[in-house]
Amino acid sequence: AKALRPIPATLIPGDGIGPEITEAVVSILDALGTPFEWDRQVGGMAAIKEGGDPLPSSLIDSIRRTKLALKGPLTTPVSGGFRSVNVRLREEFGLYANLRPAKTMMPGGRYDDIDIVLVRENLEGLYVGFEHYIAVGDDPQAVAISSGINTRSEARRIIRFAFEYALRHGRKKVTIVHKANVLKALTGLFLEAGREIAREYEGRVQMDERIVDACAMQLVLNPWQFDVIVTTNLFGDILSDLIAGLIGGLGMAPGANIGESAAIFEAVHGSAPDIAGQGVANPLAMLLAAALMLDHISLGDQANRLRAAVLRTLRDNVRTRDLGGAASTKDFASAIVARLGDQG
Ligand code: NAD
Repeated sequence: AKALRPIPATLIPGDGIGPEITEAVVSILDALGTPFEWDRQVGGMAAIKEGGDPLPSSLIDSIRRTKLALKGPLTTPVSGGFRSVNVRLREEFGLYANLRPAKTMMPGGRYDDIDIVLVRENLEGLYVGFEHYIAVGDDPQAVAISSGINTRSEARRIIRFAFEYALRHGRKKVTIVHKANVLKALTGLFLEAGREIAREYEGRVQMDERIVDACAMQLVLNPWQFDVIVTTNLFGDILSDLIAGLIGGLGMAPGANIGESAAIFEAVHGSAPDIAGQGVANPLAMLLAAALMLDHISLGDQANRLRAAVLRTLRDNVRTRDLGGAASTKDFASAIVARLGDQG
């Protein structure tokens, strides 16, 4: 095969199991012949140890240059007043779209043949964190108040993102999830924007709308009716984990945070301190995040080869402990590499 033009990308191994799964993922990507030229950067606890800041400016500068990052899980210290690194990255790079695909890879679970992509608005809604208390009598925190913000321009942008994603990936339907019957302004505006944008895609992508509570129930009763879902920040946070549950949990759930000027790909799970350093962590979620990264830079063929090798590996019953197997991280990675060239 012709060598691909090198593509600079930032690599953040992360904390806990991060370095182990990153090593496994990079070895598989190398075997696949991906064109990434990694710029390794530290973040999270690793960065606090080096310089005191979990999100050092060298990491920010690297992503500003490469516009593309693969990130391991970062431990956010509970004390010390650090804000979540993930939230800071979203803000820094305006990563407005959170993409969470869920596709069955191990048949025989509670649900088979799940194939749903959830698009979550990542910057607004109730997650802007405009919160305060009002004192009543001698209780300074007798009343808690939180304000959400949704802007029409951002609602249009994220909904357009979902429809464009559907078109590009040959998907048929986008479901807009809201709570406009109660949060009439906050999510009514989102629904209105959805109806407006959907008209532009008439005849190409279908539009459907659901109230979030009904959607949660239907995802459990009949998830096969859903294709692409687009929703506001808080609802998306909850529903994306529900959807991960349909395919067997966070162990194989990748996520992408996408903005106009940068995109960051990661496993959805955390740094798993309980099993860090044991060589048993499952690298699949981060590997599937790398596949999303390949999709993003229009190397869908490589992404599909990678996913096919993963499917064959699981089908041959090579699995890590969390998936009921006995393979180490390294054995699992080698098994995937051995299947990269196979057909069918
Ligand atoms: P976690 O996802 O790290 O772990 C939950 C459970 O799942 C643990 O039992 C763990 O062993 C298991 N697990 C997770 N990933 C696994 C994998 N790849 N292979 C095998 N088992 C796996 O969640 P937590 O314990 O709540 O969080 C630990 C730390 O991770 C916290 O500091 C948290 O802030 C951080 N975190 C980071 C991110 C991120 O960077 N995106 C996301 C979530 C949590």
